[in-house]
Amino acid sequence: MNTSPHVIRAHALAKTHGRGQGRVHAVDEIDLEVPQGQTLAVTGPSGCGKSTLLHLLGGLERPTGGQVWLDGRRIDTLSERALARMRRRSVGFVFQAFHLVEELSATENVELPALLAGRSRRQARRRAGLLLERVGLAARARHLPSQLSGGQRQRVAVARALVNDPLIVLADEPTGNLDTAATLDVLRIFGELRTAGRTFVIVTHDERVAAMADRLISMRDGMFAGDTRPARTGPEG
Ligand code: ADP
Ligand code: MG
Repeated sequence: MNTSPHVIRAHALAKTHGRGQGRVHAVDEIDLEVPQGQTLAVTGPSGCGKSTLLHLLGGLERPTGGQVWLDGRRIDTLSERALARMRRRSVGFVFQAFHLVEELSATENVELPALLAGRSRRQARRRAGLLLERVGLAARARHLPSQLSGGQRQRVAVARALVNDPLIVLADEPTGNLDTAATLDVLRIFGELRTAGRTFVIVTHDERVAAMADRLISMRDGMFAGDTRPARTGPEG
């Protein structure tokens, strides 16, 4: 149950790399609140800290300063084990380069996080089947990643991100390696999820992806440089 008004909350979130002269403020004291069901797009030039921000929000990296809460629970102070469990249950990641396991079929890739989360083989397989159907790949379930197009691989990755029914989906340039047709496929799937109330943070350079967001943040040098709410947001606009 989500009792917090914000699925994601960050306060003075910071990540620095290196020391002295070589010190880089990848993320520089960012405050952020993402309510349930919101789609937030993050843009900005290469190296401005977008991926780092996403990793901090999803517990893939630890901050060097500040705090992060997911679903009202502070995650930056969790043990490795508790953090891994939280991530598995509550966060779905989609990466630009898909990150599928090459030796496993589409079905096996999708069911893997469900098995790791402790679901039975049968439950995991059932979920994987439903999700592959939802992303239009039921007929490709037994294919290996190498037998799929880029767009199909990314749809497998989206299905995998959803297998544990996560509270939030974090996507890092999810259409960065896709052609227009495949981009539109992924956008359609994201659009459906968005309608279903899923909370999204999407790092993107693609205006078509940014256009589906409720809120658009642009980053520069680890900080927010712009923050707009496209007209579709509704009353608070
Ligand atoms: P973006 O995703 O916007 O391209 P990143 O979040 O990947 O940016 O990187 C932000 C900054 O942090 C960059 O200057 C990058 O070089 C630096 N950085 C990221 N990861 C590391 C690391 N592991 N060690 C040192 N510097 C890093
Ligand atoms: Mg990046």
